[in-house]
Amino acid sequence: MSQTFQKSRFFLLHPEVNAGKVERLESLHREYVAYVRICVQAMIDGRRLNLARSEKQAFFPCSETLTSQIEKNARDHAIQVVSTWAKSRYTLRVKGVISKAKRDGEVSPEQAKALYTIGKYLRDQPGRGITQDDIDLYWKFLDERGGRKPEISDTLPMRLTEMTARLEDPKEASIGDFWLRVSSLEARKSIWLPLVGSPYITKADQVSKGILVRKTKKGFWRFEVVEKREWVVPEPKDLPSHAPRLGVDVGLNILAATSDGDLYGASFKPRFDRLYKRVRDLRANRMRQGFRDNSPRLDALESKLSGMIKTETGRIANNLVQRHPGTVFVLEDLDLRGCRGQKRFAYRALYRALSSKAPVEVVNPAYTSQECPSCGYISRSNRSGTSFSCRSCGRKAHADWVGASGILRRSEDKSIGCGDHPSSVKATLQRRFLVKRNSPARSLLAPSPLGRSLTTEVLVQSGIGTGSNLVSASPP
Ligand SMILES: [Zn+2]
Repeated sequence: MSQTFQKSRFFLLHPEVNAGKVERLESLHREYVAYVRICVQAMIDGRRLNLARSEKQAFFPCSETLTSQIEKNARDHAIQVVSTWAKSRYTLRVKGVISKAKRDGEVSPEQAKALYTIGKYLRDQPGRGITQDDIDLYWKFLDERGGRKPEISDTLPMRLTEMTARLEDPKEASIGDFWLRVSSLEARKSIWLPLVGSPYITKADQVSKGILVRKTKKGFWRFEVVEKREWVVPEPKDLPSHAPRLGVDVGLNILAATSDGDLYGASFKPRFDRLYKRVRDLRANRMRQGFRDNSPRLDALESKLSGMIKTETGRIANNLVQRHPGTVFVLEDLDLRGCRGQKRFAYRALYRALSSKAPVEVVNPAYTSQECPSCGYISRSNRSGTSFSCRSCGRKAHADWVGASGILRRSEDKSIGCGDHPSSVKATLQRRFLVKRNSPARSLLAPSPLGRSLTTEVLVQSGIGTGSNLVSASPP
């Protein structure tokens, strides 16, 4: 499966940049902003919500200072400002005004339909069921009830396409990491700006075409680009059958435990749980009070939570992939368990992060956390908090590791399918446990309470092998 990665990165001007160049960049920016402002005003005055490509040339006044390519960038920018504004005005205000007018009988249902179409699709010209009257009425609503018109601040960033700004790799005797060539106000004369930058970008072709040039509040110039990468993650079935496998359990105590005994995200889990609880309580509270939409505070908390989990699961996934190259990661299929809340949330994030980097296989998770890795006895009471202690053979282990090793065994278990019902999984496991207990091979085992002595040979010989040789090590 092909994966793409996109991330915003930015560069800064090299501190030793020539002051004359900065001056030229400043004046370019000033003219750009002034022209975008003129174009936005032209659209508002002309009662346009959007413009087709074919209309642009005739519609906008010409710029007196910008070169034709930058003029084009500024026009597109203005159209985008106005259409974004118009869309948000429609959703937040005008839509409600139309609905109310319809309820009050001020507009007919047919006219309301036309008005909705104008707002939703930014159709600002008569035709196809929309009359000039509809457009006039829409603009009346927009003028009276739509709130403020779009405003262009002096710090509006310049949106430059590949035609007007191009990142170039450094040449010899260069002072920066990259050069940015920007068209200037003078035709055919570029400004060459030395940039220092993002440690993630080493070659100019790692970034997508087009660049956003922004002057920050503190007066720094920032050059924003999008880093793009594409790579292929092999499917588990495309790998050799002997490819190593690693079970990963998304735990309730820690974020991720592996079948070889590593625990990840232990310190993160309490922080995550606290924030998760706050979000959940706040949401429940608003539901009780009958609010349907999120409050800004809830929105902020939710995005903080998802940012937190994304960062942490990304980190863990990177770690796992680095430590286990060429490995198939085995995770539980959460859709089978129907579990909710934190675990589901954390699982989804980890699954997404891991599967974008390495082959991932999902297995039926039924009873993986309750099954003894040594004797196969299953019971809920085998497990208590973070500790696992088998009620049948006395095997002790970290509960999260037991889960991870159970998941790994499941991936090699031909008799338990992903779609099997938990009750049939339980029956299979119980049958297997009884066969094993009554097997004469059992007497050959040393009676260690830790169960380390259970070796695969015995299982394989008795014909019920589950590949548990891979779980013969205890977690550290
Ligand atoms: Zn046991």
